[in-house]
Amino acid sequence: MTMNISIAYPLDMTRHVLTQGFGENPQLYKQFIVKGIPLQGHNGLDYAGSQGGGDNVLAAAPGKVIKQTFELGGFGNYVVIQHEGYRTLYAHLSSFFAYVNFIVDTGDVIALTGTTGFSSGVHLHFGLYPDGEPALNGYGGAVNPSPYYGKGENFKPSGILEYAINPTGNSIFIIRPNKWRKPAKARRK
Ligand SMILES: [Zn+2]
Repeated sequence: MTMNISIAYPLDMTRHVLTQGFGENPQLYKQFIVKGIPLQGHNGLDYAGSQGGGDNVLAAAPGKVIKQTFELGGFGNYVVIQHEGYRTLYAHLSSFFAYVNFIVDTGDVIALTGTTGFSSGVHLHFGLYPDGEPALNGYGGAVNPSPYYGKGENFKPSGILEYAINPTGNSIFIIRPNKWRKPAKARRK
């Protein structure tokens, strides 16, 4: 299924890199059974988080939060947003800023990165699910988000949390609340 949509990156991509692409590692992912069908590979895109977590996770498009929950051994803490004709999923979160029925806009900070669920380190798993895409497509209904990132639609860094490494090698976070940008929390209906 090909959609005529444009999404923004779910993280500030000046600070994060892709660590696992769509469809990779089929041997690892076949243990995950979706409606009786083993996954054929990684069903989203993974981006490395900062050591210690706490990176801003950003809504990829305008929509409404339809799920905010915890899944043991899988996505961990995750959020699903319904958009026009598709859903986006943000997983392995450490904390939530957006909850069910929140209306969010592109770039709203909906959560912070973490390493909950099936995860070996702080990262964001980002999934894209077209409405009507069969759940039995081998990826649990997900498709590769990469072709849908819009040109010039990279978010502006929101600067809620600044990240640094201190001399001991541990990560520290400097909160800059004056730079908070459209926090989803403030826009609850
Ligand atoms: Zn992943």
